[in-house]
Amino acid sequence: MKACLLCGSRLRQEIPLADLIRLTPLQKRAICEACSPTFSALNLLPTCSSCGRRRTTDMSDPCYDCLRWEKDGQFKFINSAMYEYNPAMKDYMKRYKFAGDYRLRKVFSDQIHEQLKKQSAIIVPIPVGKDTMATRGFNQVTGLLENDRYLNLLSVRFDKKAVRQSAKNRQGRLLLDQPFEMIESQKNQVKNQAVLLVDDVYTTGTTIRHAAALIQQAGAASVKGFTLAR
Ligand SMILES: [Zn+2]
Ligand SMILES: [Zn+2]
Repeated sequence: MKACLLCGSRLRQEIPLADLIRLTPLQKRAICEACSPTFSALNLLPTCSSCGRRRTTDMSDPCYDCLRWEKDGQFKFINSAMYEYNPAMKDYMKRYKFAGDYRLRKVFSDQIHEQLKKQSAIIVPIPVGKDTMATRGFNQVTGLLENDRYLNLLSVRFDKKAVRQSAKNRQGRLLLDQPFEMIESQKNQVKNQAVLLVDDVYTTGTTIRHAAALIQQAGAASVKGFTLAR
């Protein structure tokens, strides 16, 4: 009998009512009916047209974070996200990334595949640094992309942890050098192509925008973002 990856309770075999109503394709379910609604899907909610975050009635569109990017003279970047970065998602990330439970990629990898199989852009995952790879043992983004074809185009020039410690504030983060570099042998593959950058979480937008700028410089026709959470 299969168990829920998050709480360990037994997974029931019948199709859940919610799936019947939504007429979603029957997927291999990895989590139970109690854990599933703790995540907040963004596809039916109003979101920021630029970063994909949930937009409440008092928020502008684009949101204040995105307007600040525009004011900083940054290029227009469009990100879409599947879920809110709510307490359930934060807890998930803690267990998947920081406790390094690689099985937990399966909580979302099928859903991500359902989303990404419809589009034709080249999928490029945000890489992790050598230090992270050594401690965690895997790249959480390529774990989530286990059912998708993607191109390893980028590598990390220095580790994110060191960056975080040296730059606690926004201004500091903006002034940081580009954390990524192109893998030279793959560079030509994105020339005049549409690229979809994939990351686990969009937080400040700094990471994904640095990567996008690099890919744009390499001659991509367009670069958009897709994240599990925002
Ligand atoms: Zn559960
Ligand atoms: Zn926004």
